[in-house]
Amino acid sequence: MKAIHLLAVGLVQTGLLDELAASLARLFQVSCRVRKEVLDAEFALDTIRGQYQSSMILARMASLAANNGTRLVGITEHDLYVPVLTFVFGEAQLSGVCALVSAHRLRDEYYGLPANAGTLSRRLVVEAVHELGHTFGLRHCSMWQCAMASTHSVERLDLKEPGYCPACRRIILNSRE
Ligand SMILES: [Zn+2]
Ligand SMILES: [Zn+2]
Repeated sequence: MKAIHLLAVGLVQTGLLDELAASLARLFQVSCRVRKEVLDAEFALDTIRGQYQSSMILARMASLAANNGTRLVGITEHDLYVPVLTFVFGEAQLSGVCALVSAHRLRDEYYGLPANAGTLSRRLVVEAVHELGHTFGLRHCSMWQCAMASTHSVERLDLKEPGYCPACRRIILNSRE
């Protein structure tokens, strides 16, 4: 992996992307920058569900990605879904270069709690690490602390580390290019 680019998909809270970029640069030891443009995702809105179809956004992102292995991670405030599931925290191309993460259900406010910036940024990092793992070909991991564990609630998500278990890390190191 040469570098990571972050892309705002729709309007994203100021500062969130810069903070995430700093964390990902530190974790992966590669350069990580925020792209200037914003991807409008209204084409992916299902007006009946009030949610955005993540696969459609990923497909659009693929046309914006560089072909040198640089990962393109979209961050959105929109609530995402895939047709078979009520919602997804994110989605990625398995062994591809594009990944997408939604902050929508990572916010404590979504669950009727007071906003907590620290909690939100930690969850965002864990989810970005998870989706990036899929771009390295990683599938879901049975270690609950591993970022690659499959989670459908923030309670389970908060048990995960913003990093990979030794087995997942080995696969990433071998596919690093
Ligand atoms: Zn996953
Ligand atoms: Zn693992």
